[in-house]
Amino acid sequence: MKILSVNAGSSSLKFTLIELPSREVLASGLFEKIGMNNSQYTIKYNGEKIVKECELKDHSIAVSKLIDELLDNKIVNSLEEIEGVGHRILHGGQEFTKSILLDEDILKRIEKYNELGPLHNPANIMGVRAFMKVLPKVKNVGVFDTTFHQTMKEENYLYPVPYEWYTKYGIRKYGFHGTSHRFIYKTISEYLKRDNLKVISCHIGNGGSLCAIDSGNVIDTSMGFTPLAGIMMGTRSGDIDPSIIPFVMNKTGLTAEEVVNELNKKSGLLGVTGISSDSRDIEQAANEGDEKAILAQKMYAQKIANYIAMYNNLLNGADVITLTAGVGENSKTMREMIIDRIQSLGVKLDKTKNDFRGEFRLISTDDSKIPVYVVPTNEELMIAIDTMELIS
Ligand code: AMP
Repeated sequence: MKILSVNAGSSSLKFTLIELPSREVLASGLFEKIGMNNSQYTIKYNGEKIVKECELKDHSIAVSKLIDELLDNKIVNSLEEIEGVGHRILHGGQEFTKSILLDEDILKRIEKYNELGPLHNPANIMGVRAFMKVLPKVKNVGVFDTTFHQTMKEENYLYPVPYEWYTKYGIRKYGFHGTSHRFIYKTISEYLKRDNLKVISCHIGNGGSLCAIDSGNVIDTSMGFTPLAGIMMGTRSGDIDPSIIPFVMNKTGLTAEEVVNELNKKSGLLGVTGISSDSRDIEQAANEGDEKAILAQKMYAQKIANYIAMYNNLLNGADVITLTAGVGENSKTMREMIIDRIQSLGVKLDKTKNDFRGEFRLISTDDSKIPVYVVPTNEELMIAIDTMELIS
């Protein structure tokens, strides 16, 4: 069965065509600058790469182009071969607790949560409508970043603020990266052949979040009402004292939105170093002796270590710690710095095993109290698997 896994942004559309159950990637690519002057797309398949510039007025035109390329290059022989399209959707509020088959009624219900994810949700929905228009016979499935976290209990998802903020405005912790954390739980529990695992899943890429999972249920996660909360990230601050916001507004004359924008886009590794949000640049600068880069690395590792220790307590002792996403999968330096800071949990790194990047591997010593695995994430595959299950 061939499934398209899609992530639509406001001016982009990322796709992966996956064969299931073999999990073979048949093609993948990106349509960029949709609705702008210099739109272009890249498609990779079977060792080939297509790069073309062309006018992509809207997402429907991009989807039509994608279908034409799939047919012209015989990646699929007919449209009937594409049995389903799975869409990443950022926010399903409290209402959506599972992935779901999409129709116009469901889309209208999802639109209610656009104000909770204004940068992503409208674009994700636009992507769904484009596929509904171009491929009207194919079923579409919505896979939300928030649903996996819906098992959190009130005591963990509520903020200690006036209760009516929750009842009137929906202010609570929603959590994000749910599709990734769910994939990681599925992968590690299948590997260890246990479905009652207590896992601390660390998704550390440009964005980052940790998730405490017990037997497939989320107990707590570090992102919150929005993805700004939790650990320090590439450009996001993570947790800070909210009183900083009005203080900075008074000092700078910026509006609240502008300060929050700085916390989202100009903070984190970028904010502390002034160099870059990319951990490779920070590592290089640190190796060259840049003091701010060294400081930022220490801060970054410490925040993650603090959350791991907190979640170990919350889980009453974790069975396994997993590291994933760009930094977790690739940076042996950052992995070492994090594990160095959780020695009180009896976690021990095997430096030889840690000397690699980008694959599934155990990196802790045999006598480490909690084993630590690097588990590459695959949100596209998780979306495709959900889609297959819902359309079958
Ligand atoms: P993601 O958001 O999951 O794509 O992760 C992006 C982050 O992963 C960026 O900060 C990259 O610098 C980081 N990353 C990717 N490859 C490496 C690497 N080889 N070493 C260190 N960091 C890396």
